[in-house]
This record gives sequence, structure tokens and C-alpha cells, in this order.
Amino acid sequence: MKDGPIRYELWHEGVEDPPPRSRLYSLEPIGIGTSEVESLSGYINRLAQAHCVRASTLLKNEVIPHIAKNGPFDQNQGAKPARSLPRGNRERLTRLICGTGLTAEKWVKVLGILTGRSDLRFLTLLDWRYVLHNRHLFSPTIRWCPTCFDAWLSAGRTVYNPLLWKLNPITSCLLHRRKLRAFCLHCHQPQNAFTGLGRPGFCSRCGEWLGSDDENDLQPEERLDEDEWQWQKWVVKNLGQLFQVAPTLDRPPPVETVARSVAYYLSQLSDESLVKASKAIGHRPDRFRRWSQGKRARMQIDLLLKFCFHCEISLVEFLTESPPASPPFFSSASQKLIPPKATKGRWRPKGVKREELRQVMKSLLEREFPPLSLRAVAKRVNLVSRTLLYYEPELCRQIVARRVVYREQNNERIHSVLEEALRHSPPPTLKDVAKRNGFATSVAWNHYPDLCVKIVAKHKNHEKQAWENIGRELERIKCEENPLPTIKALASRFGCSVQSLHVYFPDLCHEIAVRRDEQQQACFLNRREQLLSEIREAAHKLHAQGIFPSVNRVSEILPRPRGIGGNKDIVAELRKIRKELGWKQ
Ligand SMILES: [Zn+2]
Ligand SMILES: [Zn+2]
Repeated sequence: MKDGPIRYELWHEGVEDPPPRSRLYSLEPIGIGTSEVESLSGYINRLAQAHCVRASTLLKNEVIPHIAKNGPFDQNQGAKPARSLPRGNRERLTRLICGTGLTAEKWVKVLGILTGRSDLRFLTLLDWRYVLHNRHLFSPTIRWCPTCFDAWLSAGRTVYNPLLWKLNPITSCLLHRRKLRAFCLHCHQPQNAFTGLGRPGFCSRCGEWLGSDDENDLQPEERLDEDEWQWQKWVVKNLGQLFQVAPTLDRPPPVETVARSVAYYLSQLSDESLVKASKAIGHRPDRFRRWSQGKRARMQIDLLLKFCFHCEISLVEFLTESPPASPPFFSSASQKLIPPKATKGRWRPKGVKREELRQVMKSLLEREFPPLSLRAVAKRVNLVSRTLLYYEPELCRQIVARRVVYREQNNERIHSVLEEALRHSPPPTLKDVAKRNGFATSVAWNHYPDLCVKIVAKHKNHEKQAWENIGRELERIKCEENPLPTIKALASRFGCSVQSLHVYFPDLCHEIAVRRDEQQQACFLNRREQLLSEIREAAHKLHAQGIFPSVNRVSEILPRPRGIGGNKDIVAELRKIRKELGWKQ
């Protein structure tokens, strides 16, 4: 093969400037443009973790000094560390930096320069600052969904704190149909923001893992009733949409948005609907007038949600889509208009084969057991309940009636099972009772909390007594038994694990183990003493017959013949005896 000349690409002589470097890691935020976007305070925690320092250290040394300073700063310069974090409530600080005010703006700017990221504003509500009221926007406590934490950890995903969990109107996790938790189950304390132990997913006070996938871990107060569930579904969806659209906005919705939207949607209501709406929202109609006229109006978040819900409009639409120029308020009340969404309601059926639908509903009604709820039937046929009601009101009535009867019967059954369980001895756990009889513990808790409390208490009491009995028995064994058994043997005697014995009775287990060692040592010395006296006797016997008491000969005439040549101590003792008897070695 012939080597030819190789042409290399030509490089410019001048060295290009390297891209700018950031002082802190340019950690990528989680979930921008989705409803699960991370909160800025949670991002700071993760940033501190990435730098292997405490969040408070990072804030004190790298962030606060720049926040405190006015004017531009050189990010690579580093600044004089602040003596401490800002005074006052740190949880309040986490709310402010994720909010809509100047604090959020400043923190986003400083952190953006330090990390070289321009997208940190989406971890706050800054894009909604002209249309959302800061008041009651965030929950005063730090909350989380333990099941989400656990699911992320098991799936190998990063554990973080979504911005949604900070919003006050949101109290639940839609994915796991449970309320968010605000107290650590290990230390029963609320969480602190930016403290030394504050790693995402771990208790800031005791450092324990905050996640859990155990259904029994669900506390009674963390269950959702049906009304709350329906409301939360709507609220979470609508607030989540704010985070989804934020990165797509050209500019934050302007200050007059709320007033314009309120005026427009109210103009669509009839007198009657207006009275109804004001009753549902809990404000007099003239209050609406003030909002529609105030050019810089901002409604509190809960009120805003109620208003949108009642007008059947999504929050994002209300806050972003500029409504057509509104007619003067109240002038159109007599025009008998209904809310725009209601006329083209999303659920209105189109192109459904009625006969087919009726047949499917009938067969589900007759064959399914346990009977399905109306919502479950609707889900099976890929429609919403209201569509079914519209088409087949009679079948729906039957479905609901059958379901109600079934639920009542089932509840009665659960009630009698629970009462029966209370009489059982030994008292079973609630989980066992539920599993054996095919119902979920959550159903029992929902309907018969008093009985559940009694069953749990009775079982606990029984367990307590059982452990007390084991404790007494261990005391007796320690004093009376010789030889003492091993802890393992004791555990199998009591039908529990070795670990439980060690956990419940650490001192007793230690004492028994020590005493058992002493017994074994004494036993060993005893046996040795006895063997030596037998050897002495045998040597004397051989000596009396004039035979040299060699190791082998002595071994043979021992009461229980055995080889003693391998034991150096014994051989040395025999040598001593021979010397006493006057034999030469
Ligand atoms: Zn969850
Ligand atoms: Zn804790």
C-alpha cells in the first residue's frame, strides 16, 4: 500500500475565547415546562448537595452576600460571607423566593449569574406576577407526598421538591390520591428550610427518609373524601398548567388581564347565574364589579380558582387569553347569556352509537360483580359520566342504585367482620383482617374509624403484653437455666426474631450471653481437672506395676480411653507426674 500525503483541516490562528464559566455548578433544573417543575428553594437544596455542602453554607457564602449587595457583582470574585442567613422565618424566605415579588426576582437573577442558567425564573411564579396575588399563594409549611418520594427513589430518579407542593390550594397528590404530608412520621416535626440536614427527601430534623410506599402508612387524616378529590383534581390540573405554559409566554400577562377577563365572563352571565355564582364563590355581586373595574386588580388564588371553576374556564385561559372587548358590566345581563363553555360543553356527546352503548351498559349492569360505579362504567366505555347520564338516564339510575345497595351490604359485612375481629383472641392486626376478608384497610378506616382504632389498640396491647411475658421469662431463664441457651435458641423458643430480642431486651440478652460464656468456661475447666486426676491415677497405677507411664500407655488405660498426645498442656502435666514418681524423662 502506498502512503499518500494527508491533508489536515486548517485551524484559525487566533484562539477563540472559551465559553464563560459559572461560579457554581450549572445544575439542570427538573421538569421545566411541565406541571412537575421543581421549586427554586428545592433547587438550592439540590445545588448545595451537588457541592457537598449544607444549604445554609452555600447560601451564607455564595448567595446572600450578593443578594445583600446592590449593583452588579463579579461572580468569580466571591464575596465576604454573610454572618448568618437573613433573620426571621426561613420557611417564609422559601415562599418569597418562589413567589411573584422582588425577592424572587433578585434571587433568580443572582442564582442565574452564579450557575450560568437563564431558566431559573420558571422555578418560581414570576411570570404571573401581575395577575396573581402573593397573599395565601403558598402553604406556610413544607409538604410532600411520601409515595412520590418512594416511587422516584425506586425508579432511580432524582428526589426533589416540586413547586406545585408549595401552592396553598393544593393539598393532595393526584397520582397517589392522598393528601400531602407536613410532619415527619419519625420525629413528628414539621420541616425546616435550608438547615444542615435538609437533603431532598430526608427529614431536616432527624435525617430519616420521608418517603413510604406502605399503604398502612397512610394516616386517617391523609385520606381524601370524594368532594375534596374532585376539587383537587381540578385545582392541580389548572395550577399545573400555569407551569406548563410559563416558558411559552412572550411576556408575563399584563396587569389589566384579570379585570378584563372578569368583566367579560360576568357579562356572559344572566342575573340568575350571577346570583348563583356569587353565592358559590362567597362574595356579593358588587365585589365582582370592583374587580372588573379595577385596572390593576389581582384576585387571591383561592378566589380566582373558584371563579374560573364556576365559569367553566381553565385558569390559564383566564389569565392568558385576552377576551374580546367586553360590553359594559351588567348591561348584558338581560340578554340571557349562559357561560360560553357551557354551550359547547366538553362532555357533549358526538357520534356515539347509542344502541351499542346501551348494550354495553346493560351487560355491565347485569354481569359485573362487584357492581361497578357509574364512573367506572363510563371509564370502560371511554366516556365521562355526564355523557352516560345524558344518553341513558334510566340505566345510569339502575347502575347507581345497584352500586349503592352493594356498598351498603359490603359496608355491613365489613362492620360485622371488624366486630368479630374485636372478639378474636389473640387479637389480629387490622391488615390481616382486611386481607383475609378481601377489603382495603382504607375502606375500613373511612367507614368505621372507631372500630379500627379499637382493633389496632387491642392488637398493640396484646403485643405489649406478649413482650412483657417474654421479658419475665428471659429473667427466669437467666437465673435458673444451666447451661443457658443461645439467643438464637431463645428466639426460636419464643417464636420471634433474634433482632427483636436484641431490640426489646438489649441488657438481658447481653447478660445471658456473658453468663453463658462464663458457664462454658467453668465447664471446660471442670472437665480438664477431671481428666488430669484420671491421668494421675493411671500413671500411679502403671508406676506401681513398674511400667513407664508413657503417653500412649496412660491413654489406653484411662476410664474413657482417648489420645492425649496432641494436647501439649496435658503432656507437660504427665511429665511433671513422672518426675514426681522418679522416672527419668
Ligand atoms: Zn404522590
Ligand atoms: Zn424527622
